[in-house]
Amino acid sequence: MENSCEPVATIYWFDLDLRLDDNPALDLAICGASTLLCLYCHDPAVSDVDTFGTKRLGDLRHRFIERSLDELSASLQQHGQSLVQVSGPATTILSQLIEQYQIQRVLRNRHFGHFEVCAWEQLQRAHPSVEFIEAEGYTLFTREQVSGIGTLPQTFSKFRRLVERMPVATPLEPRPFPPPPSLPETSPQSQADPSSLPDAQFQGGEAAAMNHVNDYFASQSPSTYKQTRNELDGWSSSSKMSPWLASGCLSVRRLYQCIKHYEAEHGANDSTYWLFFELLWREYFQWYALQHAEKLFLPGGIGGGKSDFAFDRRRFDDWCKGETRWPLVNACMQQLNQTGYLSNRARQIVASVLVNELALDWRCGAGYFEKQLIDYDVAANWGNWQYIAGVGADPRGGRHFSIEKQAQQFDADGRYVASWDNSQVQPDRTRSRRGTQEA
Ligand SMILES: Cc1cc2nc3c(=O)[nH]c(=O)nc-3n(C[C@H](O)[C@H](O)[C@H](O)COP(=O)(O)OP(=O)(O)OC[C@H]3O[C@@H](n4cnc5c(N)ncnc54)[C@H](O)[C@@H]3O)c2cc1C
Repeated sequence: MENSCEPVATIYWFDLDLRLDDNPALDLAICGASTLLCLYCHDPAVSDVDTFGTKRLGDLRHRFIERSLDELSASLQQHGQSLVQVSGPATTILSQLIEQYQIQRVLRNRHFGHFEVCAWEQLQRAHPSVEFIEAEGYTLFTREQVSGIGTLPQTFSKFRRLVERMPVATPLEPRPFPPPPSLPETSPQSQADPSSLPDAQFQGGEAAAMNHVNDYFASQSPSTYKQTRNELDGWSSSSKMSPWLASGCLSVRRLYQCIKHYEAEHGANDSTYWLFFELLWREYFQWYALQHAEKLFLPGGIGGGKSDFAFDRRRFDDWCKGETRWPLVNACMQQLNQTGYLSNRARQIVASVLVNELALDWRCGAGYFEKQLIDYDVAANWGNWQYIAGVGADPRGGRHFSIEKQAQQFDADGRYVASWDNSQVQPDRTRSRRGTQEA
């Protein structure tokens, strides 16, 4: 991508990149700007409910984002800048600001969600004389690199083999900012009320992200990641980077660089490779989401076929509250509801139960995760749900886990269930509604 570096009135649109470190689109914006308006749009649509009555943004993720924005705003002030936060649909806000400040360029980091891609295209059509530039700030690789492998492979394994030796760009350091245009005084945005929420395990913001990265690598947990990553609980069993990666408080290229530095110092092994391997799963789902666009949200998934999933309010509510017949499922859902986080293993178990045992439309589960997860990421969430429901990138046609086997393997002493399952529901070994098949 060319950058003219001529000083023009520029808007930088922050969204899933709530950081200054290694922010490629921001770097380009700074380079060519006479004035720079740093914008964040609070989209009211996050309060809407989906087809199944679930709100899109829950309290825990809302708090995480608000905290990240507070910190970003303070960091920008230290650079003589300010973060303009406006509530409303992004396309309307940007159109107004483009007119008001005679903006010539708008930049953001690439988005992989279909609706965000459409909003960007809509803006480009509405303002043909404005230059719109997207850079790669959310992924390890650029669009050009990924296009270079040809059509996106249908399976993750093929994708991984093609990309895992491709170079990852060195992270960028922040550079000095141009001034903002003269802005009217604004009243502060409403914040999530922290007193009404339990203490957070995950603190939003770029500084908290880097503290976590430093602690994680200093603990040397990456050297044993492959052995521990499937555990249901435990702070260092997996990296816990996901909330910061999803909100963009942490650059994935910075994380990759930390893995490489760690390997140089402590030695590379299967575990350090596996951490990178998981980042490639994240990567795959981003490009998968971009390719399949609105099919990410269709009941029949990327194949577009008909699905035989149904919906039952009672069964769905019981699953959401963690009041099912299965203590392991209840423990997982209660952990999710209390903390906004769930291990990958637990996510797979509860997703498989929703699809197979409860025979519910997978999209109601994906929508509930969207609301509850602090690390919600449109591509990773909907892509993983499709995978488990058998309507996505899975040649084996879905995943069905035996709850009993999972409990024996991952919670043999019952400690996990004892810590999280507070439901009074009596366990019942009733068989699945969709037959059994072990993943
Ligand atoms: C049904 C379901 C829904 C999910 N929804 C999300 C989501 O909304 N947001 C999200 O970030 N992850 C999602 N995941 C993937 C995975 O469960 C989480 O990324 C992981 O548990 C986060 O914990 P961690 O940071 O300790 O991961 P680690 O095991 O330490 O992995 C390192 C990083 O790799 C990435 N990663 C790991 N596994 C996956 C995966 N299967 N798919 C994509 N990326 C992965 C994440 O960015 C993660 O932070 C989902 C998985 C399932 C089965």
